[in-house]
Amino acid sequence: MEVMIFTDMDGTLLDHYSYSHKPVDELLVDLRKLTIPVIPITSKTFSELIPLRLEIKSACPFVIENGAAVVLPKAAFPLASMISKGDDIEDAGDYWIKSFCPNRHYWQSLIFSIKDEFPCQFSTFSELGVEGVAEVTGLSLGQAELAVDRQYGEPVYWTGNAKDLEKFCSRITELGGFTLRGGRFTHVSGNVDKGKALLWLKKLYEKKNGKQIKSIALGDSGNDIAMLQAANFPVIIRSPVHEPPLFQQTENNRVPAMITSATGPEGWDVAVKELLKMIGVMTSPKEVNNDG
Ligand SMILES: [Mg+2]
Repeated sequence: MEVMIFTDMDGTLLDHYSYSHKPVDELLVDLRKLTIPVIPITSKTFSELIPLRLEIKSACPFVIENGAAVVLPKAAFPLASMISKGDDIEDAGDYWIKSFCPNRHYWQSLIFSIKDEFPCQFSTFSELGVEGVAEVTGLSLGQAELAVDRQYGEPVYWTGNAKDLEKFCSRITELGGFTLRGGRFTHVSGNVDKGKALLWLKKLYEKKNGKQIKSIALGDSGNDIAMLQAANFPVIIRSPVHEPPLFQQTENNRVPAMITSATGPEGWDVAVKELLKMIGVMTSPKEVNNDG
């Protein structure tokens, strides 16, 4: 194995509207035969990823909550010592978890410590609860339950004015936190991003396999940029709802970012096949059989 694929989920491997992954299903089978890992890197939670990776038949590690933690199946990494010499690996049943920031409780306390400065201007995810989150997001109760189950950060639903939100964000920064503003929610967490998680996991596989690995990364949004800048072969997946995010090439990138013509998983399928051909790995079924 000399190639690893790191991928965003929503709008990238999954269709923006239907969440379908059908256009990539055949290619995912070929990639498994070639033992090329496809690593989901997402803003989703551990609880959201577990059913999703079953659905795409993935046994690979995955990265949750925007790079806050890497989850490694024990089937692939039976010993914690295969991951780290230190003791910072958490045992989570069938998985090991390597996190890159303090846990959710830490961020909840931090937010709580400044709550009086912003009276009645926000509710946290935990204050909203499953029903509240379902109401403001439009998720079903079942989906909201998985989304609320966060481990490494706390989203804040802001109901105050924009100027006070600025103030809130600078107070969090003063206290050592980081804020990421989405549509309705501002996420409070540590200094994490998808790029750091990619580099850590790539290094782990290089150590495990004793050889250098080429990384392909695919994403459709601004929160994927750090991941694309950390990858050797960056791919911007076209979105049906927004312009491609701005991208500046880095020394990690061996080629400029490819921007797909097709959106979502259709674009994914074309881009990965093209890059594997360029790198010298073939994916047609006949060639897969001949190679192994
Ligand atoms: Mg996305």
